[in-house]
Amino acid sequence: MAKIRIFSLANKLGLRTEALIKVLSDMGIEDVSPASAVDPETASAAVELVVEQAEEAHRQAQAAAEVQAAQEETRTGATDEATVAKEEWEEEFAPPVHDADLEEGLAELGQYLAELQAATEQERPETPEVKPLSELAARPTGERPDSAVDVPPVVTVLGHVDHGKTTLLDALRQTDVVSGESGGITQHIGASEVSTNDDTIVFIDTPGHEAFTAMRARGAQVTDVAVLVVAADDGVMPQTVEAIDHIRAADVPMIVAINKIDLPNADLAAVQQQLLQHEIVPEELGGETIVVPISALKHEGLDELLEMILLVAEVEQLWADSQGDFVAVVVESRVDSSEGLLAAILIRNGTISVGDIVVCGASWGRIRRLRDWRGKSVKTMEPGHPVEVVGLSDVVEAGEIVQLADSTKQARSLAEEAQDTERERSLMGQAEVQLRQLQRQFGAEQVKELNIVLKSDVWGSTQAIEANLNQLGKQLGEIQINVVHNTVGEVTQSDVLLAAASEAIIMGFRVGVSNEALRAAQDEHVEIRRYDVIYEALEDIRRAMIGMLEPIYEEQAIGEAEVLQTFESSRRGVIGGCRVTSGRMARGARIEVVRNGDQVFDGELSSLRRFENNVATVEAPQECGIAADEFNDWEPGDTITAYQQVEVERSLSGQAVESSSS
Ligand code: GDP
Repeated sequence: MAKIRIFSLANKLGLRTEALIKVLSDMGIEDVSPASAVDPETASAAVELVVEQAEEAHRQAQAAAEVQAAQEETRTGATDEATVAKEEWEEEFAPPVHDADLEEGLAELGQYLAELQAATEQERPETPEVKPLSELAARPTGERPDSAVDVPPVVTVLGHVDHGKTTLLDALRQTDVVSGESGGITQHIGASEVSTNDDTIVFIDTPGHEAFTAMRARGAQVTDVAVLVVAADDGVMPQTVEAIDHIRAADVPMIVAINKIDLPNADLAAVQQQLLQHEIVPEELGGETIVVPISALKHEGLDELLEMILLVAEVEQLWADSQGDFVAVVVESRVDSSEGLLAAILIRNGTISVGDIVVCGASWGRIRRLRDWRGKSVKTMEPGHPVEVVGLSDVVEAGEIVQLADSTKQARSLAEEAQDTERERSLMGQAEVQLRQLQRQFGAEQVKELNIVLKSDVWGSTQAIEANLNQLGKQLGEIQINVVHNTVGEVTQSDVLLAAASEAIIMGFRVGVSNEALRAAQDEHVEIRRYDVIYEALEDIRRAMIGMLEPIYEEQAIGEAEVLQTFESSRRGVIGGCRVTSGRMARGARIEVVRNGDQVFDGELSSLRRFENNVATVEAPQECGIAADEFNDWEPGDTITAYQQVEVERSLSGQAVESSSS
């Protein structure tokens, strides 16, 4: 039989390519890529090892399941079935593949592995599948249940500063107040409802792409239609272009409102021409984008704009389940001196009532009051509508998901869980998408596309860099490179949010990064890579593809502590009661203990306690208890330095890379 490519072999076995490459590496075969070909003997040997490893995983899962079953003193019967099934397979297939025709054996073997894996997974104790929060907030599709209700579309207004976004929102609200019920609006809550003859539209009151994308970055994309406001006298400006990219990245339908048509120097034709340059083709010019001329100030064209929004939003398809699991998205939150925290939320599904217990990230509470978008108190609110809730414990952020809990106990534990996850995430400080992990993620089939936000110093370079990246994308074939946004200027907070929301990395060419952007990059876990020349960036991507940007670990000091006093513990021996003086202490870290200038211990920090609890880390300036299995001789005044393996950036020059550019 001829040689077989690794990805094709993996495919036949129903394995991830990465897993097969790992197996080959266990066999001492390095330097292979998914496209490398191996001879039939090697393939057979690899297959045997795969089977062995799969069976071992199966045995371990079985053992774990047995332990759990014994603990729970319940019998499920699944283990026995799996064991019998496995024995049957073993009879049929053992020895898996030796000199039999590989091609023929592989398909059956693939099935064997798949079934083995399914059995293993069945036995593996508790790994419940959790739906990502952002998916919970998505619009339902499919069959409408009896409890379904029609819901209004949600609109966000974006555009360059001073082009009239706020004026437009005010004008729309006034139209509604004039045409709608009396009473007016006592206070904005963060979103408003505008009614036309038969329909309602919800407008998010915070205009601009920062808010729009921040919500998306936190997980929830609620906008059904984006209205891009362009002033007729000013035309397409830098923030207009940004807004266009943000809208496109969110894959939200767009309507262009050309505003200020009342001005004498309004030039509709010129604006349309500028839009063309950004590949927005107005209907009038034979394209698909609806363009509505308006004057927000003079209330002209607003009815047509609303009509077009309803048309684009495909309102007849929008519904929610009023009896379904409650999910809402935070639109805005603020603190009121008398009422505490107020959060405007948009209900996506289910109904909320005063007295319900809500959880939102690390914040939770019992609802004391609900207010509709006009500021009027209500007892309950149905899905599709914004509502202000009073009663949450801590500040929440736009885009966070709100759910209901059955009890305060459950709410507290959900909130604590969320807090722990966030803490872990920030301790790890790891970007969601990292170039140097691309190959691993790609191998694991998590990443097939690389999204990039590009920033460069001069206009001339932006196009050249994008063209080069696109060309590289074509050469690489297996992975698609998408430039989500490409402009000049330093890396801004808005770029970081866009990257977070689009799971992109940021590449900056000879540009700086604003402080706000640096902070946001940390908070949102976005990787920013800076380059001087395009060649370096292209090389980086190429190397990432072939796995040469695998991380390097280096031992670094992570913190210091001082022993204040010592305690005896029956289980742990002597414990040092310490204060962390800088950085942090971490369980499992290597520590050096120094007394009067001499090192008295060098080994592992095996137990770290804060009050009664075992903890993974303790940060300065907190106090903690430290114990080491191999050291009992603590004395007050000892200083402890902790070291950990920290992932460091590889420098390009530091790599032994065979030139792949020839
Ligand atoms: P934003 O920064 O996009 O929210 O813009 P604003 O709504 O604050 O509007 C900026 C300026 O443009 C204000 O002075 C508005 O009065 C003015 N403006 C907004 N819409 C119109 C319009 O349709 N016609 C005219 N002549 N001026 C407008």
